[in-house]
Amino acid sequence: MSKVVIITTGGTIAMQHDSVTGAAVPAVSGADLVRAIPGLGSVCDLEVREFDNLSSPAITPDHMFRLAAMVRQYLAMDDVSGVVITHGTDSLEESAYFLDLSLEGHKPVCFTAAMRSGDELSPDGPRNILAAVRVAASRSARNMGSLVVMNEQIHAAREVTKTHAANVATFQSPWWGPLGVVDGDRVIFRRAQLGRQTFLPHSLCKKVDLIKLVTGSDAAYLDFAVSRGVDGIVVESFGRGNVPPYVIPGIARALEKGIIVVNATRTGGRVLDEYGYEGGMLQQHKMGVIMAGELSAAKARLKLMLILSQYGPDGRPDPAEVARYFEHSM
Ligand code: ASP
Repeated sequence: MSKVVIITTGGTIAMQHDSVTGAAVPAVSGADLVRAIPGLGSVCDLEVREFDNLSSPAITPDHMFRLAAMVRQYLAMDDVSGVVITHGTDSLEESAYFLDLSLEGHKPVCFTAAMRSGDELSPDGPRNILAAVRVAASRSARNMGSLVVMNEQIHAAREVTKTHAANVATFQSPWWGPLGVVDGDRVIFRRAQLGRQTFLPHSLCKKVDLIKLVTGSDAAYLDFAVSRGVDGIVVESFGRGNVPPYVIPGIARALEKGIIVVNATRTGGRVLDEYGYEGGMLQQHKMGVIMAGELSAAKARLKLMLILSQYGPDGRPDPAEVARYFEHSM
């Protein structure tokens, strides 16, 4: 039998209600989490490793970088067919995408989680872990990169997002849908993962800010980001990538300093330079702003951190090369 390694990081799946506050807090160890799941032991051999026990809003890109290194070590072992990572749902899509960009090879990495803690009525965690282990042990999951297995669905890390604060069907891949499903003990894929990219910096040494734009936004936050010495800025724009015209001078000042500016839309769908008015994507593209394709702003920020970090602490990025990583990937 092949082996699946379950790495636990925390989240609701490892929480219980605390009698003092009446609220969920981290409480369950990695070993306890998997001990009582019926049928799990007959899927494959298992090894459980605790990475941490954090609520997922506390996860940082540095945690993700260290988690990727741990996963890489396990994937290099001949007897390991795949890895399952339990994680809080709040930031799961970020960690899952970070690992998708950080790992080479054909073995699957399956993130899973729970919307209900183990001591609530009908907890979803045990069933999600069982499904994730089935996917990680399955040959059909090869070359699919980092996956999110929740509520019997298998999603691509690049496409998936948390869409509801409480519902167990929260993870969705808007417009694309799941890659496959877990139906009983069967793992069924209906589409492949195309155009995966990998970035392998020695350290996560570059700083990238994300600035959400709303009606009436101006250059203030861009100027602040420049003043605190960032290497890159992701602006979360409207529609096809358009921004309020009052933001443009701030973008120009950032670009003049050699800061890479990436534009990701808040709507979903692809950013494109098809509007020519002041603040439109055409103007920004001509200025040197890079279009993030379909990536959410949060995912574009992680991707930009990894790309820029590849140039090393003192290396200056080649904007044309950075643009190619974004604009030819989707
Ligand atoms: N707040 C929790 C977390 O992300 C939510 C969850 O795990 O579902 O850690």
